[in-house]
Amino acid sequence: FAPWADPQARPLIEFRGVTKRFGSFTAVDGLDLKIYEREFFALLGPSGCGKTTLMRMLAGFEEVTEGQILLEGRDLAGVPPNRRPVNMMFQSYALFPHLSVWDNIAFGLRRDRLPRDVIAERVEEMLKLVQLTRFARRKPHQISGGQKQRVALARALAKAPKLLLLDEPLGALDKKLRQETQFELMGIQEKTGTTFVIVTHDQEEAMTVASRVAVMRDGRLEQVDTPDRIYEFPANAYVADFIGEINLIEGRLAAVEGETARLHWAEGQTPLGGLAPKPAPAAGEKVTLAIRPEKVRISSERPAGAANAVRGRIEDIAYLGNISTYHVVLSTGHVLRAQTVNTDRFHAREHTWGEDVWLSWSDSAGLVLKG
Ligand code: ATP
Repeated sequence: FAPWADPQARPLIEFRGVTKRFGSFTAVDGLDLKIYEREFFALLGPSGCGKTTLMRMLAGFEEVTEGQILLEGRDLAGVPPNRRPVNMMFQSYALFPHLSVWDNIAFGLRRDRLPRDVIAERVEEMLKLVQLTRFARRKPHQISGGQKQRVALARALAKAPKLLLLDEPLGALDKKLRQETQFELMGIQEKTGTTFVIVTHDQEEAMTVASRVAVMRDGRLEQVDTPDRIYEFPANAYVADFIGEINLIEGRLAAVEGETARLHWAEGQTPLGGLAPKPAPAAGEKVTLAIRPEKVRISSERPAGAANAVRGRIEDIAYLGNISTYHVVLSTGHVLRAQTVNTDRFHAREHTWGEDVWLSWSDSAGLVLKG
């Protein structure tokens, strides 16, 4: 399933040079984006980057200042929210407190004056989808937060929209329930085949549920790609740093040899290597080496044949049970993080605070980024 890789595939939604200004403030800045049918698409970015504004323009709650939003090739300009095959689910759920679960789900269908038997069939179908058949007669205050969230989802899907927008849908749930609900959400999205666009500031959530992730900053898209590509091949230092943990070492390009770029990073130190950016920058240009902590090996002895090895002292250890993260300070003042997976119960704390260690990685484990 990768419609974005097929140049023939027609997008469900297309943003063409979309800009949104509030007075002199630009919230969304000349954005181009295609979202395909059946995708579970995540918009990820820090607070204020324009995620909600983007969703509100899709739903029709906010007008586009410049550019176009197309749905199946049709410009949505001037189409009111209730005429768009788009529904939006909010973090607050916004359930009607005096109505039962059943009536909450039926609400939009009744407003559309559908025949009673059609409504009943659809509501039962939705109850089954979110596994709440047993709770149909309860009022919102008689069910849990997770169940409320599922009622809101059922209500949002009842009219079979082409596109469902979810604005921080799991924000109110605790971590464990949130993780369970992510999998439920994925199951429901797959079953219904509806295109989901989720807004979140939780990168783990975006990586878990989404077929593709868009990383936003200041109203622009920094990168749009599959979760694994975003993680393994971030387009720039901003994306690299935003998703997961990463070591960033600034320097100047020394040389490119085949796939590998080396950078001068500190006076008198051997250049460090990582995968070269394409096209390769010129020697002397500013570059940053990005390397994930789990790709850095930590050892007491210098590993034989390691392409990159630096020496330092452990100044902190974060033990998380499944993994340990070591903070190692080098003689240059750089602090690098190395992560171990604690597969062996008795080696979880193999290295200790204050110990001198070697950190090493292969050339293909690091990534040299421009700038
Ligand atoms: P959050 O995660 O905090 O919800 P966001 O990425 O969804 O953030 P938006 O709500 O889209 O961000 O807001 C983007 C920017 O536009 C913010 O700086 C916000 O203050 C501004 N903004 C949003 N709506 C309006 C408005 N109606 N009038 C003026 N400025 C607005």
